[in-house]
Amino acid sequence: MRYTILDCYTDEASGLGVPPYLGTYPRYIYGKLTSEGHDVTYLTIDDVRLWRKYKNVKKEPSVKEKTNILVYNTTKNSAEKVFSNTDTLIVVLGVHVPGKYLSALPGTLQEVISLLHGINVHTILTGPAVLGTQLEGGKFFEKVDLNFFDDVKDFTMSFDDVGKIVTVSASILTQIPSTRVIEIETSRGCNVGKCSFCTEPLKNCFVNRSKSSVVKEVKAFYNAGARHFRLGKQADFYSSDDPIGMLKDIRKNCPAIEVLHIDNANPNSVLGLKGEAITKAIVEYCTPGNIAALGVESFDPVVVKANVLNTSPLVALKAIKIINKYGAERGENGMHKFLPGINIIFGLIDESKQTHTANINALQTVLDENLLLRRINIRQVSVFPGTLLEKKAGNKFVRKNKQYYWKWRNEIRQKIDFPMLQRLVPVGTVLSEVYTEMYDGKTTFCRQYGTYPLIIGVKGRLPLKEKIKIKVVDHMLRSIVGEVVE
Ligand code: SF4
Repeated sequence: MRYTILDCYTDEASGLGVPPYLGTYPRYIYGKLTSEGHDVTYLTIDDVRLWRKYKNVKKEPSVKEKTNILVYNTTKNSAEKVFSNTDTLIVVLGVHVPGKYLSALPGTLQEVISLLHGINVHTILTGPAVLGTQLEGGKFFEKVDLNFFDDVKDFTMSFDDVGKIVTVSASILTQIPSTRVIEIETSRGCNVGKCSFCTEPLKNCFVNRSKSSVVKEVKAFYNAGARHFRLGKQADFYSSDDPIGMLKDIRKNCPAIEVLHIDNANPNSVLGLKGEAITKAIVEYCTPGNIAALGVESFDPVVVKANVLNTSPLVALKAIKIINKYGAERGENGMHKFLPGINIIFGLIDESKQTHTANINALQTVLDENLLLRRINIRQVSVFPGTLLEKKAGNKFVRKNKQYYWKWRNEIRQKIDFPMLQRLVPVGTVLSEVYTEMYDGKTTFCRQYGTYPLIIGVKGRLPLKEKIKIKVVDHMLRSIVGEVVE
């Protein structure tokens, strides 16, 4: 059978599959079908947009234009040719935690249906969209007629089965011309929380992946040429199967790895029995620029209680201190070795003006105590079916407080983010391993590979996809201005 996987990109509370990241969904399906003897081609939505919207012409942006991120992440394959040789098309799609993406745009159901209109091939929808998808925060999941698809299917494989196909999966890289950060799954479900907005406990019961299976997959992709990895698909890295041994083994087996980062961490685990030892190991075995994304969501005790959030403001603050204690040293690429990041969500149950005051006060304490935070992610909640949020409030609080969101967000950006960024990377700091990525007018935007890298604007148009070294010359609210240095 001739299968084509169409990657429209995925973003979930646990797990990122938006370029430069390569998510688990297309990799696992590719490995499974290929090892069963099928012919499998990998396409991105950018390939299909290039064919259907731009008639296969990739135009260079003029000096007044932006790089067209709708067609930035094409594969080596031509969608037009591939579709005429496809029996079954598997569409991987789904955004549960919408973010801002520098050089990619995930597809929506509406977009993919319109792009595939008139193409006569058996089509299966899979990925997080099986539960719903929404590219814009503050909204309900996208409502479209799924009858367009011949089937809606969950391809979830057991970790044992994933382990059997990792070498075959890794050969997907032969179809992708640019660098990808390989998102590695270390667990499924959530062992720590029942947060009102989150789909993770609905998708899976908690199951940890064995250390050996994680290491085996990293090694397989490393042997296939990947050098950038994030152990990022999990609710809490600290609860992984032997996290210290896992990091040690990866470094031993993959000596030339360039990026090894983690993502989610539960502040309670950072404070746990082995929390400090795991933190030290992350600092020792991962690469600099690493961040623990602490899902605090709100520092308002009323909201914490109403939404069954798993972290109290006090615990979050203690976890921030521990990570700073071991990770705040600067690494060889110019960034700190390991710092905390904070997620804040607007629109949760019982949100009020007091919630914003509590958030600002807690973040001000972090600033006053001379601690470092690498980033504060603020997003409006999306409402998904089956969640406590949907049952109890839907988008009631988003509707009620939306009028304040710009002000609240701006206050956090001005009062906290800006001084924090100046403290993190003062003028004159040199950052290496920076890659030129896209143009916006006469500015080239660049970043390092890794988990939530800083966006760097450099004056002028530099050749894209090249490695440079920059010196910080100025700060914007959440990004920096750099100058190329030799
Ligand atoms: S801790 Fe909460 S937000 Fe994080 S995965 Fe678990 S349920 Fe979801």
